[in-house]
Amino acid sequence: DLENPLEQEMYPELQPLLERIEQSNKEKEAMAAMRREFSANVSHELKTPLTSISGYAEIMKDGLVRPEDMQHFSEKIYQEASRLITLVEDIIKLSRLDEGRVELEKEEVDLYELSREIISRLAPQAAKNQVRLELTGESVKYTGIRQILDEMIYNITENAIKYNNPGGKVSVWAGNTLQGKKVVVTDDGIGIPEDQIDRIFERFYRVDKSHSKERGGTGLGLSIVKHGVMLHHGEVHVESKLGEGTRIELVFP
Ligand code: ADP
Repeated sequence: DLENPLEQEMYPELQPLLERIEQSNKEKEAMAAMRREFSANVSHELKTPLTSISGYAEIMKDGLVRPEDMQHFSEKIYQEASRLITLVEDIIKLSRLDEGRVELEKEEVDLYELSREIISRLAPQAAKNQVRLELTGESVKYTGIRQILDEMIYNITENAIKYNNPGGKVSVWAGNTLQGKKVVVTDDGIGIPEDQIDRIFERFYRVDKSHSKERGGTGLGLSIVKHGVMLHHGEVHVESKLGEGTRIELVFP
């Protein structure tokens, strides 16, 4: 038992080891606290849409809805159920990444071509929001997990569309740089307050809850990006100015 400081003094060579154990215990505690907070958040996030679905359905079941309001009520139920599905999908993606349970093989992916596919999938959403989407850059081959790279670029590009204004623009650039292979997504949308930039990668963190919810956000998109970046030993950089726009850069070694 080396808890006793006297004994520690007798074994100075053990000091670094003890410090490492203490550090690792602290990290474990922090992880455990994060897990507890995550579970509490998950319960809350799942309960909110379920409560409204159940509320609307109950009123309908009891015959308390006027025929002309039926459409509105079913619409609400449909919206909340869709929200639940997205939420559950994101939670599954995140826990899979979190536990390192990624059975998928690495393969050669052209990040430029992948960005092009993602942009075409997001084109209808961009058109609906009256946001112009463009792709520039060059072919850039990277060996990574396709599905996860896809989710990362998709989430960032979707955010750039969601947190934008009608008439806004989103540019995706993919290419090679001295620092590594990069995908950069720039928008001229609503921007992020400076003091919150560090927090947007936290699970369920949203700058503006109602705004994010109204735009179909779960608050998990960027946590998925962060985990995907870690899995690929890459980096993510954010620059943003409130009211001017945001630039998110993914760097792959
Ligand atoms: P959400 O599902 O709410 O979009 P994310 O984890 O993807 O969750 O993003 C977290 C929060 O970061 C968002 O709710 C939003 O407030 C902010 N955010 C993310 N991307 C952008 C962006 N391009 N412009 C402005 N705000 C953004």
